[in-house]
Amino acid sequence: MQAAVIERPGVVSVQDVADPVPGPRDVVVAVRAVGICGTDIHLLDGELPYDRYPVVPGHEFYGEVVDAGSDVSRDHVGRLVTVDPNMPCRTCAECRRGRANLCERYEALGVTTDGGAAELVRVPSDLVYELPEGVSEVGAILTEPLACAIHGFDVLPRNAQDRYLIYGAGTMGLMMGLLANDLAPDPATVIEPNASRRALAESFGLRVVSSPSEIDPDERWETVIDCSGVVEAIEDGLRRVRRGGVLQCFGVAEPDAIVKLRPFDVYRNEITVVGSMAVHNSFDRAHRLAQTWGDEKLAPMVTHDFSLAAYGGAVQTFRDGAGLKIAIRPGGAA
Ligand SMILES: [Zn+2]
Ligand SMILES: [Zn+2]
Repeated sequence: MQAAVIERPGVVSVQDVADPVPGPRDVVVAVRAVGICGTDIHLLDGELPYDRYPVVPGHEFYGEVVDAGSDVSRDHVGRLVTVDPNMPCRTCAECRRGRANLCERYEALGVTTDGGAAELVRVPSDLVYELPEGVSEVGAILTEPLACAIHGFDVLPRNAQDRYLIYGAGTMGLMMGLLANDLAPDPATVIEPNASRRALAESFGLRVVSSPSEIDPDERWETVIDCSGVVEAIEDGLRRVRRGGVLQCFGVAEPDAIVKLRPFDVYRNEITVVGSMAVHNSFDRAHRLAQTWGDEKLAPMVTHDFSLAAYGGAVQTFRDGAGLKIAIRPGGAA
């Protein structure tokens, strides 16, 4: 089969590799589409602490089950599924206290082991979720990011009438903004320098500004969510959290990035800083959210389609910052 293989940091090519063979509890998925996100780029650039090369990237994918291991029901074969790429060990202390997304022996398809930027991928059968009626192709491509966004809200306080400020209107910022709008009395405010992203955010009913300087310096929010991972944005966001409020670091910052924080302000204003790691019991709800939002909201988030052979071009398009979610189609055109 064909697969995009990162041989070592900075070197990716599409090549012929052996077809995956399912272990007893695995299935093999023929990938219909796989999204590219910042994690793939960090992996390609050798910036993740758990890099293992060579590896096939791609953790946001869906496809058809085409083979099943000896301990897996053959009923799976032929089903369209999305895949939770996270593979918790289920034995470490964090897994055993119900926090599998914080597993001490983190493994994930497309990060530490071969993922979906390939025609075929081997997947533990307990990680596949059958695609329900009413989830479109675009919804399937975006299920994993939607599951991340839902988990992001799971770890935030949920107080009636809270208001939200969001840094960044990429795919995740838009999803967080839409989720906030489902809860908040006023539209969430989104800060986004890119004009086309701003236009889409505005069409979604978000209040949009291009930079923090456009916001009244005295305005405060109960919940500030950084979806940019940018130090300056996080530092700015800290200043805009209302007393008793929350700053969420949702976007993935560089591992060694450091932000300035005044402990006195955190103490005096009872500020909570909270993270959000990947997906936690949120895949089924992501399918429901995809049904609810439908293509009206989700289709504009998938802006590019590439063949698997053009993986390098897709990565470059991502780096150029053009568009939002970039989809690769290992199985050919949609
Ligand atoms: Zn991702
Ligand atoms: Zn674990």
